Parts: sequence; structure tokens; C-alpha cells
Amino acid sequence: SESLDVERIREDFPILEREFAGEQLAYLDNAATSQTPDQVVDAIAHYYRHTNANVHRGLHQLSQEASIAYEDAHDRVADFIGADGRKEVVFGKNTTEAMNTVAYAWGLAELEPGDEVVMTEMEHHAALVTWQQIAKKTGAEVKYARVDDDGYLDMDHLRELVTDDTEMVSAVHVSNTLGTINPVSDIADIAHEHDALCFIDGAQSVPHMPVDVKAMDADFFAFSGHKMCGPTGIGVLYGKEHLLEEMQPYLYGGMMIEKVTFEESTWHELPWKFEAGTPPISQGIALAEACDYLDDIGMENVQRHGEALAEYAYDRLSEFDDIDILGPPGDDRAALVSFNLGNVHAHDASEILNDFAVAVRAGDHCTQPLHDKLGIPSSTRASFYIYNTEEEVDKLVEALDAARELFA
Ligand code: PMP
Repeated sequence: SESLDVERIREDFPILEREFAGEQLAYLDNAATSQTPDQVVDAIAHYYRHTNANVHRGLHQLSQEASIAYEDAHDRVADFIGADGRKEVVFGKNTTEAMNTVAYAWGLAELEPGDEVVMTEMEHHAALVTWQQIAKKTGAEVKYARVDDDGYLDMDHLRELVTDDTEMVSAVHVSNTLGTINPVSDIADIAHEHDALCFIDGAQSVPHMPVDVKAMDADFFAFSGHKMCGPTGIGVLYGKEHLLEEMQPYLYGGMMIEKVTFEESTWHELPWKFEAGTPPISQGIALAEACDYLDDIGMENVQRHGEALAEYAYDRLSEFDDIDILGPPGDDRAALVSFNLGNVHAHDASEILNDFAVAVRAGDHCTQPLHDKLGIPSSTRASFYIYNTEEEVDKLVEALDAARELFA
């Protein structure tokens, strides 16, 4: 697209120059993990070369510098998603851990028999399994709002399911399998009309579109650094301050503590209360750098580019009668396209694609129940980011031609 200088951006990602057996890499597995620009790699290296120390505890200069950088990173991330500041931003390992933090810290304490948790059929296992298991522990019931034949969330069904018995509505913002973009502020409204809380899984939205947690009015929101030009080992839990304040921590030890006796302990202020042990210091600092990197490009531009590529891929793949595409139409989806080629198993297709150095994902993408519902064991997913091009989509389509011939 015209709004992004892709050639310029690609210079920040030397990994994209890699070749396999003479074929240049086409990295189309961004929904799993995005690549990391030099600016972020440099931020990690700079931290370890110049500032590395444990945080919060030391009075020595290095520890103070590391602490300030790590704490400031929370403010930078808060600003990126429209949160009120570091008190609402808990750093952890990934989206999955953020989900589990709320499930254990809030769910285990609050849910009881008769209570209901409403999810959607397109939830990632990170949400689905977590609430399913917490429901089993507490005697609460789990319900799933339907996905319709076009891959959209059936909002009427969601409205039916959410009642005064509902305590939590947990919904994915962007489906990592269907590419559906859910109307999350409407979902939050529905939850709040029934005094339920709402947890939005932003793993596939924050990397790809402007997100404002206050405007959507999510109570909790989670995402991962490694899908947005940041490193692995860092994920973010956003929570409204008063909710995080009321919740008890679920991991103990280290800097989450204020005062300890042999009998009792009290907790440190937010967000540290939820960051037990030595936290992901370099990763947090690098995530702040990733926010700078994306903001320099502009999140509107990031979104436009990814969605334009998805639409292009959708249109190209639609040329073939034997390709079944999952999810909404090409002009109404996020930056990914999942599909099946005839009766070729997704794993076989992706192996052939790999021979052309086209990197895609094959499997159930951690949405097994959704694949079951669709009556397919798996799918192949191409997912796009700021450095991808239409030529790479063309290469995907050519490689699929080869797969078709091989399995004919
Ligand atoms: N939710 C969604 C929608 C995702 O796409 C992913 C990553 N596949 C996750 C949650 C889990 O993210 P992580 O593995 O970083 O915890």
C-alpha cells in the first residue's frame, strides 16, 4: 500500500533476507510471531551491555537505571493502548499468562455455582481452556456465543447468553483463525448491562490496529510482545485500576511484597503486586521500543497495509475453486487468511510451501473446537505484517499450484 514504505521497513529486518535452497524467505507466519526490527534488537543489546541489573531492590546506580527504564516501559505501553498509566499495566510472560492471572486471581475467588462465563466459539485456547478449567474448579458454567456461517460472531446469540448470572464475558478482539474483527465495545456494553466484567483477548489486535482500551471499555485486556515487533517472554495484562486493586495476587514472592512477617504479608502497590519474582526486564524495555517503532510507522498505516494484503490474498486465493477460505469476506477481515486446498492436509500443504521458502502455519491454531465445528481437522494460515508484499502473496499462490499438482 502507498502509506507504507515497505522497502525501507524491510531494511530493519535482516532476517527477511534469508534464503532457503536459493529461495528467498516469504515470512507469512506473523500471527504466530512477528519478526523483530534492529531497533528492538538493539534496545535489548543496549540494555544488557549498559544497564543490566535487577530492578526495584538495589540502591546502586545500575539497578536504579534498570528500574527506571523498566518502570517507564509500563507507562509507554499504557500510552500505546490508552490505559491510565503504569498502575493498569502488568507485565508477564504472554497473553496466556495474563489470561490465567485474571482467571486465578479474580475467577477462582469470585466464581461460584450458578455463575456463568460467556465466551465465543472462536476463542483461542488461551481463553477457552483457562475459563473452562476455572469453571470446573468453581462450579461455574461456561457458554459459547455462536460463530455464524460467514465467520462472524452471532451478536444476537451473545445477547441471549449474557444474563444476570453472567459474571465474565471473555471475547477475542481479532480471531487468529478466521480473521474476524469483533465489535468489542458492543460486547463490553452487553457485559456491563448485566453487571458482568469483560476480558478482551487483544493478541491479534494490538499488533495490527490502533487500540484504546478505555474507548472499548474493557475491564481486562491482554496481548503479547512477540506478535508486535517485540521480543518473546513479555505479555501485558491491562486491568481497570479499581479491579486490579481489589484483586488478590495469584503468584507470590519477590517484589510483589510490601511487608512480610512469619505470619502475614502485605502487597506492593500496582502493578508490582502482580509481578512476582524477577520480571521480564529487558523484554519490557524492548516492548516499549517496539511501541515506538510501530507508532513511528503509524498504527493506521500498519492496519491499512495488513488488511490490504489480506484482501489481496483473499482475492487471489478465491480464484481457485478448490480453495476453501475460512471467515469473513476479503474486504472485512484482519491481516490473515486461513484456508484449505482441496483434500490436501494443511500440514502437507505447508510442507510444500516450505520448499518454496514460504513460511505459513498449519494446524488448528489453538482453536480446536472452532475447527471441529467447521468440520475440518486443520487449516493453513497466511498472516501478514508491515514488511510483507503482494509479491509474497503471489509466491504463496504459485507454491499452492505446485502443491495442487503434487497431490493431484
Ligand atoms: N490469543 C490469540 C487470539 C492468539 O492469537 C494467541 C497467539 N496464537 C494467544 C492468545 C496466545 O498468545 P501467547 O502464546 O503469546 O500467550
